[in-house]
Amino acid sequence: MRTPIIAGNWKMNKTPKEARELIDALKPLVKAAKATVVVCVPAVDIAEAAKAVRGSNIKVGAQNVHFKASGAYTGELSADMIKAAGASYVIIGHSERRQYFGETDETVNQRVLAAVENGLIPIICVGENKAQREANYTDALVEYQTLIALTGLTPAQVKKVVIAYEPVWAIGTGLTATDEQANETIGVIRKAIARKYGKGVANAVRIQYGGSMKPANVKGLMAQPEIDGGLIGGASLKAEDFAQIVNYEA
Ligand code: PEP
Repeated sequence: MRTPIIAGNWKMNKTPKEARELIDALKPLVKAAKATVVVCVPAVDIAEAAKAVRGSNIKVGAQNVHFKASGAYTGELSADMIKAAGASYVIIGHSERRQYFGETDETVNQRVLAAVENGLIPIICVGENKAQREANYTDALVEYQTLIALTGLTPAQVKKVVIAYEPVWAIGTGLTATDEQANETIGVIRKAIARKYGKGVANAVRIQYGGSMKPANVKGLMAQPEIDGGLIGGASLKAEDFAQIVNYEA
């Protein structure tokens, strides 16, 4: 019912030239993919990546967006600029942004609103850290993060967003949530959306898992009924690895 979505988060890696090389290598490998395929590239790579994906099934995403339309915000990029450069998706609220750059649930919400108003599809990251999981706060936390992030969107807009459940302790660590843990927490997120926006909306929203997803574990995770795709960091930097994840059914 929901089209799976596999998105790469390149983080602070690849120059524009390297971005083109990686996309050129990726294109033939993912051309038959059933999933939506997205590469979220550094901002300076967006224009080159948008040219490189032309005529293919790969979409380009950014890794952050500012919430204002324009103005005195040195170093920031508006949704309008990101769209004009050729991106159609944007990661918002990645744990690295929350941890190192002071982003809060409230600014995540403002960024989501700016993205949606400008026709970008947000990939909204939520997830608990190790201490929060051990203290049994995971469910309450991801519900709160999700509902705050969506505040102000209409039900029709909520249907189109993508949510990435990313346990912080699993990002870049090689540790992965078990298939069941990931499925259960994504189920909690979907139920929270259902309570606020109705079952029809909740059943339409695509919710990814992220956190050391790789060719070796993608099948098990994607076999879970609640998991609609993945947000992939490290393994998205090699065309063969990312393609194997995208083609997880093959
Ligand atoms: C991420 O950055 O969103 C991520 C999941 O990274 P990794 O796959 O490297 O854990």
